[in-house]
Formats: sequence, structure tokens, C-alpha cells
Amino acid sequence: MRLTDQFDRPLGALRISVTDRCNLRCRYCMPAAAYAWLPAASLLSFDEITRLARLFVANGVAKLRLTGGEPLLRPGLDHLVGQLSAIGGVDDLAMTTNATRLAAEADALHRAGLQRLTVSLDTLRPERMEALARHDRTSAVVEGIDAAQQAGFTTIKLNTVVMRGVNDDEILEIVRFAGSRGLEARFIEYMDVGGALEWRAEAVVSRAEILSRLEAAFGPLAHLARAGDPTAPAERWRLPDGSVVGIVASTTTPFCGACDRSRLTADGMWYRCLYAEEGIDLATPLRSGADDAELAAIITSGWRSRRDRGAEQRAAQPGRAPLVPLTRLQQDPRLEMHVRGG
Ligand code: SAM
Ligand code: SF4
Ligand code: SF4
Repeated sequence: MRLTDQFDRPLGALRISVTDRCNLRCRYCMPAAAYAWLPAASLLSFDEITRLARLFVANGVAKLRLTGGEPLLRPGLDHLVGQLSAIGGVDDLAMTTNATRLAAEADALHRAGLQRLTVSLDTLRPERMEALARHDRTSAVVEGIDAAQQAGFTTIKLNTVVMRGVNDDEILEIVRFAGSRGLEARFIEYMDVGGALEWRAEAVVSRAEILSRLEAAFGPLAHLARAGDPTAPAERWRLPDGSVVGIVASTTTPFCGACDRSRLTADGMWYRCLYAEEGIDLATPLRSGADDAELAAIITSGWRSRRDRGAEQRAAQPGRAPLVPLTRLQQDPRLEMHVRGG
């Protein structure tokens, strides 16, 4: 029987964070300093992740996405990819990465069964990346994309978080960069998630504004249907030259109504919403001998009771400000985007 939550949304996608560590410090994702890491011993092993993933798949999940932190900081990630791709019933196995280490790993990941990549790329300008992510790795990212295409990845999306006065003047350049390489550019509205301590409403560049800038530069855009997947976070448009651009408008136009996604942290806490304050602990029962039926019962009852509509609730709030103050982030790092996985 199809597993659905309190709003009749099926359990369809799981984002698996494989590490909370990152080699960048994007200002919109992590506090500038004083962040707390998860204890290394708490990280799930590849076998533990695979066991949980199998149970999620048995209960309806067909799409898996590896994320982090930076997933490529986890050594031997291709082994996990191999284990996950061997689970029957996984239709889509993807990864979101900052691509700084992709060049060396792309081939092994592709051979192990990774199907799709999303590369985060907020700027093509070295000095700007230095300011935004506190490290300039622009050339490594571009090399990573090249290597991934050579390795055989045909579906690569670029994720660009658009921030007013920071990188919004690069929208057109990024569309051209993506078009010239056969990549799909996706613009993400700046979200007020945990870790985004500098978030302010004025810095958000809305879907409407992004669209009008694209139309002014490239001509009329054709809105595309959600390609048979009503749960996809991005809406897509075709430019007159045939290339496709996506926009994820979680801040101004939330899409919680069709959300089938949940997130597993690297230490085994399951969050049923990006904005959820409380998670469901799967690591403790997993490590204290629960059998598959007991773990599956936690997952099914957790999903059946789900009522989360985090982005919609945030959008309805007057005078929006950053979600979580630094003191609370330090007490509970799982509230941060880089821990629960974007
Ligand atoms: N480190 C990897 C990367 O950057 O691709 C994976 C993890 S990162 C948390 C996943 C995605 O979350 C990235 O594309 C990032 O741009 C996005 N993200 C983080 N903070 C965000 C924010 N405040 N608003 C919108 N997107 C955000
Ligand atoms: Fe940037 Fe991703 Fe690292 Fe966050 S987790 S700081 S978005 S690279
Ligand atoms: Fe899904 Fe929560 Fe994001 Fe809404 S805010 S789309 S419910 S994860």
C-alpha cells in the first residue's frame, strides 16, 4: 500500500548527507565561524546508510540524492554509490556537490552507477568566490564539470543561489556558460534556512525578477510542464535558443503541497522537512540491534504523521529574519543546512 503523509504526499525521495564537513564556507549556508561539527564516530558507515536506504526504498522511495556538507570529502564515496545503485527500485541516483574535488572522482562515481550530478556554482569570478565561499576554487569546479562530462555524465545541472548585490549580475553569464556546455542552469531563491545567518528579505531575488531579467536578455521564455514529475522542486523554461533554465522558488513560491522529500543526516537523524526543528533518530535503534521490521515501522509511522510545510509557513510570516540564531546552531548543528543536506 502506498505510504502517504497527513496531506496525502507520498514518500518518494531521500537526500542522504554523507558528511557534515565541507571545504568551502558559503556565506548563505554556514556561519562564518564557531560552527560545531558532528562527532566523527557518530557518522553512519556505508553499510548502515545502505541498510536504511533499502528500507526507505522498500517503503516508496525511488529517488536518492547524496549530499552534505561536501559529499566528496567522504573517502571512497564510489563504494557507497555502488551499494546504493544495487538496491532494486532506485530509479534515480544523484549527487549535489560543490565539484571542487569532482575531477579526481567523476570517473569512479560514474562507473559505480551515479546517474546525475548537480553542481553548485554561484559565480564564475575567482575574487567573488573567495568572498562568497571564503575560498576560490572556480577553476577546480570547471575542471570537475569537464571531467564529469568526459566520464559520461550527460545530465548535469548547475545550482546558483541568487543574492542581490552579491552575484545577481551574473545570471546571464551563468546561463551562457551552462548553454555553451550543455548544462542546465538552475537559479535558487536565497532561503532563510538554518546556517543562513546573513539572510535578509531584500537580498532575495525572486523567481519573477529572475524571469523578467532572462526575458529581457534572451526573448520570450516557454514554460515547460514539470516533465511528468509534479514533485520536482524546479520549474523549467525554454529559452529561444533551445536551452532550458530552471528556477527553485522555495522562498517566494513554496511548493510544499507536492513535497515527497526527506533528509537523512550523516549521523542518522531523519528530517521530514528542510525547516523541521525536530528529527527522528534512526541511528540509535539501528545501532542497538533493531531489526528491519522495527526500523521500517519507525519510518512508516514517521511519514504517516508528517504535517510539515516549512517553506509555506515561513512565507506566511511577516518580518522574516534568519531562522535560527547562532547560539542555537552551536547547540544543535543539525539545524544547519550543511548538516542536514540541501
Ligand atoms: N556541498 C554541496 C554543494 O554545495 O553542492 C552539497 C550540500 S549544499 C548544503 C546543497 C545545496 O544547498 C547547494 O546547492 C547550496 O547552494 C544550497 N544552499 C545552501 N544554503 C542555501 C540557502 N541559504 N539558500 C538556498 N540554497 C542554499
Ligand atoms: Fe557551500 Fe555546499 Fe559547503 Fe554549504 S555545504 S558551505 S553550500 S559547498
Ligand atoms: Fe518539503 Fe519542507 Fe521544503 Fe516544503 S519546506 S518543500 S515540506 S522540505
